[in-house]
Amino acid sequence: MKCSGLYDLIIIGGGPGGLTAGIYAMRAALKTVLVEMAAPGGQVNLSDGVENWPGDEHIGGSELSMKMLGHAQSLGLEIRSDEATAVEPGLDYHTVRLAGGGCLQAHAVVLATGGSPRKLEIPGEREFYGKGVSYCAVCDGFFFRSKTVTVIGGGDSAIEESLYLAKLAKQVFIVHRRDQLRAGALLQQRAKAECKIEFRWNSVVTAIRANSNGVWAVDLKNTRTGEPTELATDGVFIFIGFVPNNRLVPAGIKMNADGYVVTDDKCATTLPGIYVIGDLREKYARQIVLSAADGCTAALAAAHYVETRKASLECELPENLRDGWAH
Ligand code: NAP
Repeated sequence: MKCSGLYDLIIIGGGPGGLTAGIYAMRAALKTVLVEMAAPGGQVNLSDGVENWPGDEHIGGSELSMKMLGHAQSLGLEIRSDEATAVEPGLDYHTVRLAGGGCLQAHAVVLATGGSPRKLEIPGEREFYGKGVSYCAVCDGFFFRSKTVTVIGGGDSAIEESLYLAKLAKQVFIVHRRDQLRAGALLQQRAKAECKIEFRWNSVVTAIRANSNGVWAVDLKNTRTGEPTELATDGVFIFIGFVPNNRLVPAGIKMNADGYVVTDDKCATTLPGIYVIGDLREKYARQIVLSAADGCTAALAAAHYVETRKASLECELPENLRDGWAH
């Protein structure tokens, strides 16, 4: 099948990493398209507030996304609403297949597909998703006003979302498998000072109980004693980390044991012209500012790669075809 578009760069994923890559690519005069299947912004859209984006002491997640999108579009970045279904590396161009039909080609591809909430895989989780089980407090917290909710996890997401839920709910239980939180110190302090939040330490949820009226309890097991208990609750919010969305990573690209892509300091993968950024990339910490930094790095590296590639391809072309061959 003939592809509909030939670009310098295709960016897959419209979160902070992808949009920042778009901004830098447009400033480097690369012919660029960003493919995003949902609303641009990614996980940041689901956040009530962001307090560690330099220059903004507090900014709504969707507001920050909209500002990044507006910035990229002001530079002329083309956004394509479609799902990328495959990335096929090629000798001349890389091809990106689209669910809506057809394909795009480019010298370079930036994969910025991030991660998805990790699932607990316990009885009731799948069956009652959307009926009392949620992975997003900003999306679903409203349904639990003046009710009791249970949050599972001890990282930044669990604590941040619990603090948000405490503004709406009557009571928030945080169930954590250890007796120490993984979340940052400031978030820990706030959660411990919030009177609506109560911790259930050294505990795991083994099942979610629900009936036609929704969730009514969770089964707990103490990780030290093995003792089972039941905790009455109207909703369950699960924040136990992310799994990288690596479905589009072509064979031949190195990944670590957890499925994160290994890159060099230019965000380049083991396949020339394919870059991986943000939460899909193996790195020390996962933060919005780091995804944005990856986007910058990958776009600058891709610009250099595309320029070199075009120069070498031009040398290989017969003289009468050299002008304006690229687009
Ligand atoms: P995370 O840091 O990986 O924390 C996951 C939490 O879930 C940990 O407390 C872990 O327990 C627990 N957990 C994992 N598997 C479990 C299981 N099967 N059963 C019970 N508990 C389980 O994930 P995250 O909180 O989603 O954060 C992901 C990344 O985004 C992190 O790098 C984080 O710093 C970043 N983030 C930053 C912010 C911010 O800066 N404002 C906000 C959100 C996220 P253990 O502690 O025992 O391992």
